[in-house]
Amino acid sequence: MLLITCPVCGVEGDETDFHCGGEAHIKRPATDNPEDISADAQRDYLYARKNPRGLHFERWQCLRGCGKWFHAARDTTTLVFEKYYGITEPAPDLSQDSADKSTRS
Ligand SMILES: [Zn+2]
Repeated sequence: MLLITCPVCGVEGDETDFHCGGEAHIKRPATDNPEDISADAQRDYLYARKNPRGLHFERWQCLRGCGKWFHAARDTTTLVFEKYYGITEPAPDLSQDSADKSTRS
C-alpha cells in the first residue's frame, strides 16, 4: 500500500484516495505543424515510458481532497514517496539525498 500526502491540501491516504497519472515530465514533440513529427517521435511521446528500479517521477491527482494534480518522486523499491512538488516544477535533483542515505547505511 502506498501512503500519499497531497502537497496542496494536506490530505493523507492510500493509493485509492489518489489517481496516478503515470510518468511525469513527458514532453510533447515541439512543432507548429503536426505533420512534421516523425513516427518514432510520436510513438515515443505516446508509449515509451521509463520503468526504473529506484527513483521514479510521477503525476498524481488528489481525489479525496482538493482534486489538484501534483508531482511526486517515489522510490519503486521501497514504495516511499521521497518528495512532492508542484505540477509546473521541474524534477528535483535528489542525488544528494540518495548519497546521504547510502552513506548512512
Ligand atoms: Zn489535495
